[in-house]
Amino acid sequence: LEAKLIHSERLASIGRLAAGVAHEIGNPLTGVDCLAQELRTLSDDQDTREVAEQILDQTKRISRILHSLINFAHSGQTSESLTIEPVSLYQCSNEATSLLSLRKDNRGIRFVNNCNPDLLVTGDPQKLTQVIINLLSNARDASPENAIVTINTIAWEHSITLEITDNGSGIPEHIRDRLFEPFFTTKEAGKGTGLGLALVYSIIEEHFGTITIQSPVDEQTHRGTRFSISLPRHMADLNQTTLKPASAHRDME
Ligand code: ADP
Repeated sequence: LEAKLIHSERLASIGRLAAGVAHEIGNPLTGVDCLAQELRTLSDDQDTREVAEQILDQTKRISRILHSLINFAHSGQTSESLTIEPVSLYQCSNEATSLLSLRKDNRGIRFVNNCNPDLLVTGDPQKLTQVIINLLSNARDASPENAIVTINTIAWEHSITLEITDNGSGIPEHIRDRLFEPFFTTKEAGKGTGLGLALVYSIIEEHFGTITIQSPVDEQTHRGTRFSISLPRHMADLNQTTLKPASAHRDME
């Protein structure tokens, strides 16, 4: 519990810091971007225009990182901003996959939504969609070209488990403990911010859910990762204004 508290306090302060820094950097960055655009337009010299183009590439990259920081700071806020309603993980997954399919860096990877459309959990649909987007993005980044990433649900008496399974490189044992740390990433500079799983963790914690990781999934090939998220199941006959802790582990035993 203490570790969890430290984690959420750290996240909250990192969130505030991130929002502040992003704001401070955002303004001069816009200045640099405008100047580089002007240089590109006004210069007759081909080399100068190319340099301007490279500056614009880099400002775009910084801007992407700032966006994910702001997004993180925004969605990492405390439970006050959590809305609680019956949520279909099938619908959240559909939304997540259609948003991701607009991305250019999907490398032919196909997301298959096998969730049961009849199952409901209690939670915040936007935040849960964010969780699925983050997990699918990681699955995509770890997968070989044209691979399949599947999403499915398992129903328990008091909870629903959402599984996201990829056939990617897997997660080495020695980094397991660090996965949920803010800013921990193994991706090359500019590609990863290390905030995806930190955010997943805090959203699932807010929902009284649990996260488990299985890697490798396939013992023979030693490949693949499965993230399992368990969330409180929506019961039509229960009072839905209070969240009950998920009892996923007990259910599974
Ligand atoms: P980022 O995606 O920006 O690196 P995350 O917090 O989302 O940040 O992920 C942290 C790290 O966890 C990744 O850099 C990667 O090493 C590892 N990881 C997460 N999901 C997977 C996966 N499905 N397969 C392999 N590695 C993964």
